[in-house]
Amino acid sequence: MARYVFVTGGVVSSLGKGLSSASLASLLQLRGYKVRVRKLDPYLNVDPGTMNPFQHGEVFVTDDGAETDLDIGHYERFTGISATQSDNITTGGIYSDIIKKERRGDYLGGTVQVVPHVTDRIKKFISHNVKNEDFIICEIGGTVGDIESLPFLEAIRQFSNDTGRKNSLFIHLTLVPYLKASGELKTKPTQHSVKELRSLGIQPDIIICRSEREIPKTERKKISLFCNVHIDNVIETVDVKTIYEAPISFHKEKLDDQVLSYFNIKNKKSPDLSKWKNITTKVLNPKRNVNIGIIGKYVNLKDAYKSLDEALIHGGISNNLKVNLKRIDSENLKPENIKPLLKDVTGVLIPGGFGKRGSEGKIAAIKYARLNSIPFFGICFGMQMAVIEAARNLLNIKNASTSEFGNNCTPVVGLLEEWSKGKKKMKGSEKNLGGTMRLGLYDAVLKNNSLISKIYSEKKIKERHRHRYEVNIKYKNDFEKKGLIFSALSPDGMLPEIIELKNHPWFVGVQFHPEFKSRPFTPHPLFSSFIKAASINGGKINGK
Ligand code: GLN
Repeated sequence: MARYVFVTGGVVSSLGKGLSSASLASLLQLRGYKVRVRKLDPYLNVDPGTMNPFQHGEVFVTDDGAETDLDIGHYERFTGISATQSDNITTGGIYSDIIKKERRGDYLGGTVQVVPHVTDRIKKFISHNVKNEDFIICEIGGTVGDIESLPFLEAIRQFSNDTGRKNSLFIHLTLVPYLKASGELKTKPTQHSVKELRSLGIQPDIIICRSEREIPKTERKKISLFCNVHIDNVIETVDVKTIYEAPISFHKEKLDDQVLSYFNIKNKKSPDLSKWKNITTKVLNPKRNVNIGIIGKYVNLKDAYKSLDEALIHGGISNNLKVNLKRIDSENLKPENIKPLLKDVTGVLIPGGFGKRGSEGKIAAIKYARLNSIPFFGICFGMQMAVIEAARNLLNIKNASTSEFGNNCTPVVGLLEEWSKGKKKMKGSEKNLGGTMRLGLYDAVLKNNSLISKIYSEKKIKERHRHRYEVNIKYKNDFEKKGLIFSALSPDGMLPEIIELKNHPWFVGVQFHPEFKSRPFTPHPLFSSFIKAASINGGKINGK
């Protein structure tokens, strides 16, 4: 029977609940257990797909096309297990389900209420689709005390009651701040947060205390006493140099031991942490540096491109290189300032994006990379912009653009139905913007003897998509005559999936998002190859 671990957070957000959940999952896996990690998000959006990355960070896409919270990406990268639609739910998703049922008459005669209808739906989600997993780790988004969190906390309280208290474990993550002025670590915020949780009927079994310095025994004792948690279950987590150290440091703090002992599981097998140790050593001792310029709109918020940043680091790991990311706001990029802005980067990456703002800066940067033989990697929107740049400057279609920016152009990129009138119904014609894109895994067939077929060493690939617009296949021959090869297509040959430029060290655009499938222990071949190309072109020895 599966055991359930609920992870809540207190005091402030961004304490690393996602990373803690993912690290625990990995440690339990390494001790021989099957795990699944889920995220329950209290906000009212049905999914994060319509949220601005400035607000909420990246939208992570699963194989089965769910637009999910970026923490799902952490879970996948740490456990190697691909998440599914049923691993992330929001209040919006729950309510829209319940309201649909209410309209259908499923509750006929009854009053629909938060308790029991919403809480029941949350409980159903928690154990939905559980097969032979030993542990289900559920992270609750937000912090204790948020109005939106209440139904979730009530649901997990009930869940633990329903399944037997000893089959569910509550972990609460809090902040133990250090006050410079008095030179003290403060436990009061933790005490208050736990008090709040207990007022909702939840007694935490383990408290993870995030702190910038080690927490001495006296403070731990205080937390243990005031929060009613055994001192062995007061676990500290101090800042680590790289996220790959987190599982090692949690194991040192005996998090996995305490979890097993709570469930009365006798497991003598200590986890083999060598893969985490090796990767930490590699990340902390790179042979050389490589500087990559990321040109996008959301450069000020680090989490906006979380999986992309991780995938680039993975590409660095596979080449023993440290990848330094220089984030450049595409809105500030003009043909006249490109050279100085890109002077210290040896690879240019244009990630996914939406909307016209900043697009001309991206197109100018692509032109610069194309003409100056700088390795270029365009992802989704980045590929579409590369095609537009090539249409304008190689095919001489001066007003080439995408119908995403309006109809006043020659749309080399557009909605499929715009040029294949009803031949094949594509997502995107619906009025709603939520969940109406080409989402999730799609096949692509690679062209023989192309750069891309060498990179993948495969003939057919499956990659995750999240876009509405497509490159118009009718320009294929014209582009190929000019050296821009359509080196992967959808199996029916209608949708360009990858483009590459001949006579250039490395110029690749992909219509999908390879970053979602890259994992630290199996870096995505496209990122390994791009980083390698960028390093050949000017990686610096020891940063000099
Ligand atoms: N805006 C583009 C589209 O919808 C690209 C999307 C993306 O980069 N994810 O097709």
